[in-house]
Amino acid sequence: MSTVWQDIAQNVKGIYRDQTVIPLHEPTFDALELEYVTDCIQSGWVSSVGKYVDQFEQRLADYVGVRRAVAVVNGTAALHIALKIAGVRANDEVFMPALTFVATANAITYLQAVPHFVDVSTNTLGIDPVKLAEHIRRIGEQRDGCLVNKQTGRIIRAVVPMHTFGHPVELDALLDVCQEYGLVMVEDAAESLGSHYKGKHTGGFGLVGALSFNGNKIITTGGGGAIVTDDVQLADYAKHITTTAKIPHRWEYQHDEAGFNYRMPNINAALGCAQLEKLPEFLSSKRALTEKYRSLFHKVEGVDLFIEAPYNSSNYWLQTLLLDEQLHDRDEVLKQLHATGVMARPIWTPLDELAPYADCPKADLSVTHQLKRQIINIPSTPLKGDSNV
Ligand SMILES: *Cc1c(COP(=O)(O)O)cnc(C)c1O
Repeated sequence: MSTVWQDIAQNVKGIYRDQTVIPLHEPTFDALELEYVTDCIQSGWVSSVGKYVDQFEQRLADYVGVRRAVAVVNGTAALHIALKIAGVRANDEVFMPALTFVATANAITYLQAVPHFVDVSTNTLGIDPVKLAEHIRRIGEQRDGCLVNKQTGRIIRAVVPMHTFGHPVELDALLDVCQEYGLVMVEDAAESLGSHYKGKHTGGFGLVGALSFNGNKIITTGGGGAIVTDDVQLADYAKHITTTAKIPHRWEYQHDEAGFNYRMPNINAALGCAQLEKLPEFLSSKRALTEKYRSLFHKVEGVDLFIEAPYNSSNYWLQTLLLDEQLHDRDEVLKQLHATGVMARPIWTPLDELAPYADCPKADLSVTHQLKRQIINIPSTPLKGDSNV
């Protein structure tokens, strides 16, 4: 009788044949990337000025379905600026899931604001709007039109939902909570380019959204990110402060506030333009991979492949297994998978367990801590040509 890690390894190796070490997620490049990047180098405009940045921003905005996108150096910088232009200030609290990559909390901290951790739903792996509303009724009170945390006396300004591994959170219910309590929504859509909730692209539901194009994301610019919004004035302001807050002039250096040098270099945007053209292909390949994994894992006891909620169309960025913890020990499974060359990974350590965030305010996080023991991600790189899948 095989143990579960052997079943998992066999399923993964059956799909990624001829690879002795199977990475979690690799970027996919071909002639198109080479063509655009070469063109960029030959033009001499590789740095802070050039046509690819404008082109990338325009195509991204069109794809996401928002008026504007502002390309920046990485997703963390995008979140930092998104929160700032959404009005998050020093000493504010910001609701966010404890089950996310650390960058979400870091960006809040850069503004001297305080993460306030809330629990996630097993339907989406993202913020649970019902539990959030219950928590607010317990700890919150309305003062001068603001929601205040009675226990800390701080204003709770915003909510940052994160669409885990590409699965959109329950946005309608969350928007209702925001409306009722006067919270601004800033979406951490770093993992959800190509993911839709009820037919509308993620990142466009909040006042502002943030995307990432890090090397392991669904498309990459090497390193990169973007702020997306329907608000043209906010977008203009984001552009201004991510480009040193310089007042346009042919030669004078005038800056009207302490700005940031967060602008995406042209050479990275050239890579991004090529990758964006291939996104539809990546998405269908990932969906085909999900179907294949679904039929394989159907037969494995105590292992469930995580599937999108009915109202969602996920990009399936990272494939996710939920282990029955009565039957399987997560760490043992990971150890064995690594030993056999399958680069599976656990979900992030919940942020309330990390030293820099251990003292942050938090709600009941029982689902978060349950999922931490159950979730692993398995290799998810799109395969060339869906026929291979
Ligand atoms: C990748 C990621 C980010 C940050 O993006 P970088 O480009 O790596 O700075 C932020 N939040 C989440 C949830 C991410 O997965």
